[in-house]
Amino acid sequence: MGSDATPSKANAAGPVPDPAATPEARPLLGMGLSALEQWAQQQGQAKFRGRQLHDWLYAKGARRLEEVSVLPKAWREGLAATPPAGASDWVGRSRELHRSVARDGTTKLLLGTHDGLSIETVGIPAEGRLTVCVSSQVGCPMACRFCATGKGGLQRSLAVHEIVDQVLSVREVMGERPSHVVFMGMGEPLLNSEAVLDAIDCLCSDLGMAQRQITLSTVGVPRTLPTLAERALERLGRAQFTLAVSLHAPDQRLREELIPTAHAYPIEALLEDCRRYVAITGRRVSFEYILLGGLNDQPRHATALAQLLRGFQSHVNLIPYNPIEEEEFQRPSPAAVESFRRGLQERHVAVSVRASRGLDADAACGQLRRRLTA
Ligand code: SAH
Repeated sequence: MGSDATPSKANAAGPVPDPAATPEARPLLGMGLSALEQWAQQQGQAKFRGRQLHDWLYAKGARRLEEVSVLPKAWREGLAATPPAGASDWVGRSRELHRSVARDGTTKLLLGTHDGLSIETVGIPAEGRLTVCVSSQVGCPMACRFCATGKGGLQRSLAVHEIVDQVLSVREVMGERPSHVVFMGMGEPLLNSEAVLDAIDCLCSDLGMAQRQITLSTVGVPRTLPTLAERALERLGRAQFTLAVSLHAPDQRLREELIPTAHAYPIEALLEDCRRYVAITGRRVSFEYILLGGLNDQPRHATALAQLLRGFQSHVNLIPYNPIEEEEFQRPSPAAVESFRRGLQERHVAVSVRASRGLDADAACGQLRRRLTA
């Protein structure tokens, strides 16, 4: 907001109360039906205006409040003059700054926030499904060595409307309803867990997704996993989304080499927290394991990983490294990937290999943003 944009306390639109005067004035995207009804009533409007707003925000995908033509014009105009904190419009949508489409249809969007920052979101089409890879923060403080996002540090966490907006943006651009959402874009979701849980609630209650189609990926933050399980039960009524833990190494020494923050979180403590998460939620945990050529992709690493996960209700997802400019890591050879997969399978570990998607579109998360904003 510019210095000349003094909010008008008296509100020139007459009987309409000043929306920005409500202490918790925030964008509408992310609010459920009853919150929208309440908000409409606080604005001196009829309750059914909340249902209309809900329909326009989620089913119709309105980008600005002035598009919601069913609302009284004077009200819309009054609101347009007094946007909430943290957005340029009451709806809370972002601006598309750049789009890059790979040959396989994978679509990477660079979205601009109201405060001039940018985040990445990716739409990944596959037979019968459309997965949206969303960001939970602008940048990331975890500084994992192989990750492009980590190179720039953290700018700030995203608010719920900025997370939901990413799913709506992919729906709009790709002309298709997303079926799956993975929190595997920029940021560490467990450092922004309340907004992430609010967003999961909105995706399920307001956009009709199933919790089971949502995956939250974390590299691990000490003492947060059991709390996440409990908060999910309180906030969502159940914790059915998939928790994916970025393990990346079968032992503490190698893990610390790749993930500096692992220093403060011994691998045994991380696994113990995963067990508690399973006990509280009744859901098995997935482990992600990035394969870096010659570093952690040898048969002995597969053996050690199988040993570490023995008796654990889990699934391992192998991710061949996507090269980033700043590091010299190598992609694993196809033979190494296959023998690693077989090594786990032979030891009765459920395992899959993530197919490389959109490699021609700056596939590694954070790369597009670094190239365009550096
Ligand atoms: N902070 C969370 C979520 C974001 S990263 C986490 O670490 O889990 C999502 C996944 O992409 C993680 O498993 C991460 O390790 C992986 N990843 C990051 N950079 C990568 C790269 N260059 N190539 C392949 N996978 C990468």
